[in-house]
Amino acid sequence: TEIRELLLSRIRDVADYPEPGVMFKDITPLLADPAAFTALTDALAEIAEGTGATKVVGLEARGFILGAPVAVRAGIGFIPVRKAGKLPGATLAQAYDLEYGSAEIEVHAEDLTAEDRVLVVDDVLATGGTAEASVQLIRRAGAEVAGLAVLMELGFLSGRARLEPALNGAPLDAL
Ligand code: 5GP
Repeated sequence: TEIRELLLSRIRDVADYPEPGVMFKDITPLLADPAAFTALTDALAEIAEGTGATKVVGLEARGFILGAPVAVRAGIGFIPVRKAGKLPGATLAQAYDLEYGSAEIEVHAEDLTAEDRVLVVDDVLATGGTAEASVQLIRRAGAEVAGLAVLMELGFLSGRARLEPALNGAPLDAL
């Protein structure tokens, strides 16, 4: 479709970043193009509205850039899920495995309630580890996961298959 072509045309492939053998998808050209950034925001806000989400969770750091305008456009709140140690209040934490070692993400516990349906927004779905941990975190906070929406899914890394059990029927949309 038209929007797919527009978005794809504004994503830059950077070879050997952040390490040799990795082709990094750089979204900064898209952010710098108001037509593309607006089209992306509108498409994600439509997904948010379609899922009946009451909150957007954005994953640090590019999920903040994409998720915040989506929340404003959809008229719902924005909640940051951050890397461990960045949030000042009482948090819930979720650890997950990386290729080498592990990582931990956190959310302010009081930001999510049993009444919330949460749309998780991020730029790129790669192995699915970050998204899986965020879904687990949202459930542990007592909220419902309305879905996961990303700009781009790297299909060859099979993140979708990994996420399926955690999503438990909630939709995964990749633009
Ligand atoms: P995963 O946990 O799915 O392996 O990795 C996804 C996380 O890493 C996302 O938060 C995403 O921002 C980041 N990421 C991994 N690969 C890329 C990439 O090629 N481009 C961008 N922009 N982010 C990436």
